[in-house]
Amino acid sequence: METPGIRYFDAHAHYNDRRFEEEFEGGGRGALLKAHAEGVERICNVGSSVSSSEESIRLAEEFPFVIAAVGIHPSDAQEIPASECDRALSRIEALCSHEKVRAVGEIGFDYHWDGTDKERQTYFFEAQMDIALRASLPVVIHSRDAAGDTFDLIARHPENTGVLHSYSGHAEGARQYNRMGWYLSFSGPVTYKNANKVKESAAAAESRMLMIETDCPYLPPVPHRGEINYSGYLRHTCEAVAAVRGISPAEAAELTFQNAERFFGL
Ligand SMILES: [Zn+2]
Repeated sequence: METPGIRYFDAHAHYNDRRFEEEFEGGGRGALLKAHAEGVERICNVGSSVSSSEESIRLAEEFPFVIAAVGIHPSDAQEIPASECDRALSRIEALCSHEKVRAVGEIGFDYHWDGTDKERQTYFFEAQMDIALRASLPVVIHSRDAAGDTFDLIARHPENTGVLHSYSGHAEGARQYNRMGWYLSFSGPVTYKNANKVKESAAAAESRMLMIETDCPYLPPVPHRGEINYSGYLRHTCEAVAAVRGISPAEAAELTFQNAERFFGL
């Protein structure tokens, strides 16, 4: 099914998500093994809360090809009782010393939902940028409907490095992030027919700062929209990125693989 010799690095996945247990044969572990057999040689499983960060580490301990990111997503940050916030952050910092933890994330801003608490989101974002610095780890940024505030906060923290996951901003923003030394990771939407803005950004990104990801079980690429996503579908995103950059899918796979290895310090 896969072209022999092509290796893929899925820079952002959530195999601990309940949807895998409910909808994928063999659950999250079955999906991981299937993707690995299909040429996905490395996967970063990303946490969004204390418990999912712990689950990410468990998967990374169980599967040699999996690494973990640990962090509290802005929407999850809003669910934590005020008296528990600093305890949750301390727990994330403690998890950072695990040898398979290679990034802090996903962290950032999500203004999409009603009841957005910007103060709480900013507190967690900044605290986890500091944790990443102390742990000498890059960060994985989630940004939804918050492009300006995300850019401003990152610009205020020039010591940090990281990746904008599932980047959906415009090409000028992509160039600015690259100039600041930040990576960009592209996901399923780059395959969508009318996603011109994302395609332009994927074309504009610096070669050395480009990664690809599934964000599975979410964001399935064309031709699998409506299905549960898994890393085996990453090749469609890879093909779309290759097409807009005028390189072969094999070159795009290898380029993004080496970039992800460098980013995660492997
Ligand atoms: Zn994610």
